[in-house]
Amino acid sequence: MALSPRLPAKLSEPARALLKGGAGLLQELAYGLRGPYHVLFPDAFAANLTSFLDVLDETGVTGRVHYAKKANKAACWIETCADLGVGVDVASAEELRDALGHGVRGTRIVVTGPAKSDDLLRLAVRQGCLITVDALDELDRVAGLYGARIMLRVTPPDQPHSRFGMTERELERALARCGPLRLEGFSCHLTGYEVQPRADMAALLLRWCERARARGIAAGGVGIGGGFAVDYLAAEDWREFTGDPSNFHAGRRFDGFYPYHSPVAGAAALRAVLAATPSGGSADVAALLRDAGVTLILEPGRALLDQAGFTVFRVQGVKDRDYGIVTVDGTSLSLSEQWFGSEFLPEPIPVPAREGPAFETCVGGASCLESDMLTWRRIVLPGRPRPGDLLVYPNTAGYQMDSNESPFHGLPLPPKVVVNADGSWRLDRPPN
Ligand SMILES: *Cc1c(COP(=O)(O)O)cnc(C)c1O
Repeated sequence: MALSPRLPAKLSEPARALLKGGAGLLQELAYGLRGPYHVLFPDAFAANLTSFLDVLDETGVTGRVHYAKKANKAACWIETCADLGVGVDVASAEELRDALGHGVRGTRIVVTGPAKSDDLLRLAVRQGCLITVDALDELDRVAGLYGARIMLRVTPPDQPHSRFGMTERELERALARCGPLRLEGFSCHLTGYEVQPRADMAALLLRWCERARARGIAAGGVGIGGGFAVDYLAAEDWREFTGDPSNFHAGRRFDGFYPYHSPVAGAAALRAVLAATPSGGSADVAALLRDAGVTLILEPGRALLDQAGFTVFRVQGVKDRDYGIVTVDGTSLSLSEQWFGSEFLPEPIPVPAREGPAFETCVGGASCLESDMLTWRRIVLPGRPRPGDLLVYPNTAGYQMDSNESPFHGLPLPPKVVVNADGSWRLDRPPN
């Protein structure tokens, strides 16, 4: 069988520089922390945030950006949000406390999630957060809390099986009941990463604002959620891979993958949404928002974390079959995509890169589960790695690091190391 095509990740300069000097800081950290760890770049996060804000400025659209906290649990992101006066999107009391505790003002926090707990709702109202109401019974619970600021979450008409949000009939009933509550708008979070459905959704949410205004309710915001793509891989590499997505360990097949190459990604995807004309309309989304005097509320997660971190494992063993099986000193629970019936395809980078011949291998975790694979794909390393070498999974800050992490087998959770632009580093949170 021919060797698999390469899928090298796009890398930022700071990441490249650290990998080059890998024998230095990265090896020292692996030695000092005695296990896998994550590296975080808050400056990259800040730059991504700024590029979203710049698009709002350029287009003259009034808008607010809220970092979707579930994409990564580290403190450095919310500290950066607090520094820049940017908001956070949370979905649990713990996430809300964490954001408040790191200095994000309650009035800049959006609370989403279905059927929120009474504790979360009470804390959110007291801190002046904007609550996205997901259902009629939740609206009744919120109505009992004095001073609540709310948005109503809309079920996308073209995703009728979504368990989130309210249907047209439910929304009509919600509008009739909103009376004393401060209804600040309508929101939605679409699955997928396409531009046109987001433009169409913005137009639909604007029509709901008009319906509310017709009832004398000054709903002035539309929330289009997140889902701005991240461009991990070069177009040609992605095309070659998707032409024949085979060559996985144990003959494994997958139903689908994240679109690891996106020609329009991040803040450019927001620019494209604002420039798109909703189906059946004649003006673009930016013009519609400006004319209506409505605020655009954004909740990007993954896109703000593009190039904002990577994950370092140490090779613990190398076994020979028809191809190699490399085992690292952590588990795939620290690479979440592996637990969503799919694979994180940007290739791990060996540090150091050993001399050839090329070595074809999959990568397994240090657990007793057949399913604990960090890479099912038979990837090609420049040479045979040795125990103690590093294997760095690139661009993992968005969702990969910690959403599924677990101290399985008593293995410690990988710590997070913040690396600043000047090369200094610290732990993300003080050690226990
Ligand atoms: C997960 C989520 C987001 C963030 O989505 P990304 O794809 O990471 O941008 C935003 N809003 C809501 C309501 C979410 O559930």
